[in-house]
Formats: sequence, C-alpha cells, structure tokens
Amino acid sequence: MIRRHAVPVRVGGVTIGGQAPISVQSMTTTDTRDVAATVSQIHRLEDAGCDIVRVAVPDEEAAAALSAIKRESKIPLVADIHFDYRLALAATQAGVDKLRINPGNIGDRDRVEAVAKAAKEHGIPIRIGANVGSIDKSRYGEPSADSLAASALDQVHILEDLAFRDIVISLKAFDVPMTIEAYRKVAGALSYPLHLGITEAGLPWEGTIRSAVGIGTLLAEGIGDTLRVSLTGDPVEEVRVGIELLASLNLRSRAYTLLSCPTCGRCEIDLESIASEVRRRLSEREEKMGSRDKMARDLKSRAAGGSLTSRQLPSRPLATGPRPLRVAVMGCVVNGPGEAEMADVGIAGGAGVGMLFSRGKALRKVPEDRLVDELMKEIDELEHDTEGAN
Ligand code: SF4
Repeated sequence: MIRRHAVPVRVGGVTIGGQAPISVQSMTTTDTRDVAATVSQIHRLEDAGCDIVRVAVPDEEAAAALSAIKRESKIPLVADIHFDYRLALAATQAGVDKLRINPGNIGDRDRVEAVAKAAKEHGIPIRIGANVGSIDKSRYGEPSADSLAASALDQVHILEDLAFRDIVISLKAFDVPMTIEAYRKVAGALSYPLHLGITEAGLPWEGTIRSAVGIGTLLAEGIGDTLRVSLTGDPVEEVRVGIELLASLNLRSRAYTLLSCPTCGRCEIDLESIASEVRRRLSEREEKMGSRDKMARDLKSRAAGGSLTSRQLPSRPLATGPRPLRVAVMGCVVNGPGEAEMADVGIAGGAGVGMLFSRGKALRKVPEDRLVDELMKEIDELEHDTEGAN
C-alpha cells in the first residue's frame, strides 16, 4: 500500500498529511453556546481517542463561546462556519486551530480575503470542499464525481488566488461510488491533504458499513490524511468506528485486538457474552491508557510535520503502528486451540469450561464463569513481563 503524498498541514498539535498518522475527527452535537455541555462532550471524545474536534458556529453567541471551549479542549478545535464571514473572523480571534468554511458561500471576494488574511495571521488552515448539496447545478448539472471534484477545485482556486495554500479538502456525498471516484480525481490533481468522509451516512449500523466501504476503499488505495465517520447518534461512536476502521487496515494500532469466532454447533459455552465482556474490559483499559498513547502519537506527528515541507516528496509506503496485543476468544477445541495459540493470549471453549492459552502455550482449564477474569489476569501478566523486558 503506497500512500499518496500530501503537503502537511498543521492543526494545533496535530499534522494532517505528510507522514503523519491518519487522524480521526468528530463533531460535537451539543449547542456550542452551552460551553459546559460542549466541553464535556469534547472530553468524552478525547477519551475515546479523537484527534481533532469540530464545533458548529451558527451565530455570534456560539462564536463568543469558542475561546472558553478552546481553553478546556486538549485536542485541536475546528470552527464550522457557513455564510457569515464575521463568524470566521471571530473564531480566529478566539484561537481555534482550523476553520471549516466554503469560500463560495461566504460572499464577495473582499470577505473571503479578510478570512484568508486572518487565518494566515493566526497560522491556521482552512478546510474547504464540496458536498452534493452545494454543487452549482446551473454550471455542472446533476451531481456526479466530476461535478463534485470540479466544485471542490473551484473552492481551492478562490483561496489560491488569494495566495492561501494552508488547505485541507473534503468531498462529501451519500453515494459511496461517487464519493470514491471524486476523491480519486482530486487526489490525482492536487497535493493538499484530504479529509475523508461519507456524508449523512445514517444510523450507526448502516452508517458504519457505508463509511467503512467508502473511507476504507480510499485508505486502502493510499488516499486520505484524516477522516470523520458521520453517524446519527453519539459522536463518541464515530470516533470508535474511525479508529477501528484505521486499525483494520493496520493504519492505527489499538492496544488490544480482539479475535473471536462466529461460533457454530460445536460451541458449548456462551461465547457471545464472554467476547462482549472481554471487549468491554479491553476498551475500558484502552480509554485509560488513551492519553499516554495520544502523547506518543502527537510527538510522532510533530516530528513528521517538521520533516516534510516539500510538495515534491515522493509517495511512500503507509506507516503502520506497533502490533497490538492479540486476544483470541474461540468457541471450541476444533479450531480454537490453533487460533488461540496464534494470539498472544486466548481461550478455547469446551463444555462449560475453557482452555487458557498464553504465548502459544496451553496453560490450564478454567470454569466458564471464571474465564474472563482469568483471561484478564493473563493479559496483566503478559503486559507486566513485557514492561519488565523493556
Ligand atoms: Fe465453531 Fe469452534 Fe470454529 Fe468457533 S472455533 S466457529 S465453535 S468450530
């Protein structure tokens, strides 16, 4: 997998593009004017592993809340603004780390120029782009990959004409093949970083699948520098899905990877409950170690951002993170032991019992009701030994 080279853009402490890890973004669903509620949601997003958070800025009161929100946010803050250029100016004054605007919908050239000038003075990038709803039909006709890409290029040209190049581009449509094709076109035409997403993807079940297919296809082709999974519901779920999507392509490492079998007529334990409980406990541990992991990634990202300044750098293989600890939860002794042995630690079920494995060795039989606790103890031991060895 070769990653397309994109010029790195700095968003607070996070780099988008260059060799930086692909970042996961989300957007708050709270009323931005309600600082306490918005900050509390941002903290939940941070704990879940979110790298960059965006807030809607629909009016002056919301813009006035930005500096207080920014003070409390540990991750970079993006102001999402439509139509009113004064809100964009207020957001830059408030210290946000990025603007999300469409130059085409904020009016005359002098207004766009004022925003670009303010962004430049504050050293913050602007994310621009197109979505199907914003395509100028009189000019481009019905929405298509071509019209989506052309609309985005229009926005880029407005900023380039003002000598502003600190740009991230997004192209959003509900139609997955159209979105993929539009991103491919822009990826081949420009070297700005790309923000991936499938817009209005729906409720978590269908939205996760649509996003995984759309975003995953592009990432597998080496296209994309940051992503947001759009889901109707708790934005924390967007972050979890985004991280899992990256992890499934080895583009981000979680501390733990859970393998579990689908079960079949040979399974004689309640594997679904056991696997769910193991995942819950592992996720809890991941959230606790989240800030430590994030600091390490921020440092890596900064180093990568500083080392890449040329547009001419060649494409390169996608970076992968360290291998996570593999935990296998298997239903029976037919395939179970073999699979569990290949994991760092695992169980293979029997009749009301499970065989515990660690580092490829069978350790002992454990009654079903003790399996999760014993598995977690083995994980503790494994981690303790690894830390000791380091
Ligand atoms: Fe069935 Fe055993 Fe394979 Fe699970 S590991 S799917 S229970 S054969």
